[in-house]
Amino acid sequence: MSFISEADASIVKKFFKNFYRKTYSKLYIPSRLPEREFGYFTFEKKLMIRHLSFNSPQELWERIIEETPLHIYHSAAFYKYPRAPMDAKGWLGAELIFDIDADHLKTPCRKRHDFKVCKRCRKAYPVSLDLCPDCGQSLMKVEWVCDLCLEAAREEARKLLSFLEDDFGFSKFRAAFSGNRGYHLVVEDESILELDQAERKELIDYITGTGLSMKLMGLEERIIDLETAPKLEDPSWRGRIAKAVFELLASQNYEVLREVAGDSIAQTLIDEIKEISKALGENVPWNLMRPRLRRTLFEAARELASAHIDVVVTQDIHRLLRLGNSLNGKTGLMAKMFNPDELDEFEPFSESVALPMDDELTVYVIKAPRFKLGEVEFEECENELKKLPAAAAILLLCKGAATLP
Ligand SMILES: [Zn+2]
Ligand SMILES: [Zn+2]
Repeated sequence: MSFISEADASIVKKFFKNFYRKTYSKLYIPSRLPEREFGYFTFEKKLMIRHLSFNSPQELWERIIEETPLHIYHSAAFYKYPRAPMDAKGWLGAELIFDIDADHLKTPCRKRHDFKVCKRCRKAYPVSLDLCPDCGQSLMKVEWVCDLCLEAAREEARKLLSFLEDDFGFSKFRAAFSGNRGYHLVVEDESILELDQAERKELIDYITGTGLSMKLMGLEERIIDLETAPKLEDPSWRGRIAKAVFELLASQNYEVLREVAGDSIAQTLIDEIKEISKALGENVPWNLMRPRLRRTLFEAARELASAHIDVVVTQDIHRLLRLGNSLNGKTGLMAKMFNPDELDEFEPFSESVALPMDDELTVYVIKAPRFKLGEVEFEECENELKKLPAAAAILLLCKGAATLP
């Protein structure tokens, strides 16, 4: 909970309550509802209330309207006794879930837009400080999210979907924006429901390219046979490696190369790449590369082509995940569900706006980088009293970037 004051929390709660009163019927109702565990955070307490279950959508809706949670979650798992303590629940299976969070991706914009706030002095400071220089109190971090962050997350989701559909042949998915920094993807195919942790770990290793072998791809021979080396048209990881290496050679974009090899080694390899790029034909010229370049390009390709997922989430067969179309208490945005086929068209900062844009609130903005909600753009501002559309004011209040005057 990042609110600066109790008054901030209670006004946000009022808007959440109104939202749930009006749109409760649009909340996602997970399949086999009575077998799911539910949990939520309230606006008042720091502990999660969990081990709940609901026999009907009406029961769930009533509880949500009455309690107005800050965050609501349900289990990906099905249980015989969802209200029992963890070890007595009687696990019956679980959907396969994936969490992609911009927080785990190395987006360069973070350095520009994240900051810290002193709740007492109501001032913003750089992330590098831990204590307020004026009053000595611990500073609270405000993690901002911009288009670049969410584009990076979307790209990871795209790669993940390709693994799930093309390599594993799964066909039943649901997808949602997290309401903050990323995307959730859930596989609902019957065939995965009973996979245990170790089996889920194998899927993760495949998706993250862990243990991928150059040798098995015929790339460790002294003289490379182009017939057996990975080609662009190959399926699965072989094709992914070939495509990523080909793109690296064609684009001459060396950023990833520097990341995997370090600056000085990358520099010595770049001249070799430039030479090879001149002769770039229809496929990857593995045979023209010296072993060290081959290995470095292979590693860079693995980094580019793997999907950067939160491994802990996918492996956890008891995990709770945010209820689709509920509000995220860190932003006041909706964890909007969408058709996974429409991932490319989904616009997080428009489609997830759930609170009113036509109602206004006056807040004291401690700091806010530029942002956009729906059709409205908001300029960067600091230490300013502002009258804002309610959805925008609530986004800032939830982040602890603004407070009621
Ligand atoms: Zn202070
Ligand atoms: Zn960003």
